[in-house]
Amino acid sequence: MKLNERGLLIVISGPSGVGKGTVRKALFELGKHNLEYSVSMTTRPPREGEKDGVDYYFVSREEFEQRIKEGKFLEYAEFVGNYYGTPLDYVEESLAKGKEVVLEIEVQGALQVREKMPDAVFIFIAPPSRQALRERLMKRATEPEEVINQRMEKAEREIHMAYKYDYIVVNDTVENAADRIMAIIRAEHARTERTIQKYMKMLELEVE
Ligand code: 5GP
Repeated sequence: MKLNERGLLIVISGPSGVGKGTVRKALFELGKHNLEYSVSMTTRPPREGEKDGVDYYFVSREEFEQRIKEGKFLEYAEFVGNYYGTPLDYVEESLAKGKEVVLEIEVQGALQVREKMPDAVFIFIAPPSRQALRERLMKRATEPEEVINQRMEKAEREIHMAYKYDYIVVNDTVENAADRIMAIIRAEHARTERTIQKYMKMLELEVE
């Protein structure tokens, strides 16, 4: 398969509590593009309602560390005491088939992908205000206060990384954020460097 037929890798990232997961789900519900979600692996225990293989692949610490040694992650990070990582094979195979792969990952992981796959599209989901971010973190009643405080501190540090991304999307409403991401994906498809070879071939012209 030719390089220009490789799929697009879309990295959705941003601080903890900004609503990345909800925005990602809304994006998939728009159903307007052939997007594939890369299910991450984690050592965090499942929350109520979460399904293995759908929300995450839930594994033990030993298993995760074994996979790190075997080089099976495109990126991984330790986040508030648990490992999270993107399985490399799935991403590689899907991109090779020309699919659009969406990762929803925290900031350290996104920066690793930036190094390894610089032609991916990096989107930073930002909170509409500081207060909104704090309120969102407080509402996560599933977690003890100590974890919430750790996440708030971490979120503040992560927001400083926004300048490393290609796009910033403010999550004022989930629908708006999902629409903006879809607009970005469409625009990225029209980028000259992504389309020139295919287009020239279509017109039976040489690329200069
Ligand atoms: P949660 O425990 O709330 O599901 O996720 C915690 C954080 O880990 C979120 O910011 C989420 O986006 C991020 N995350 C989920 N999967 C991955 C992954 O594969 N790699 C990295 N680096 N972060 C991930």
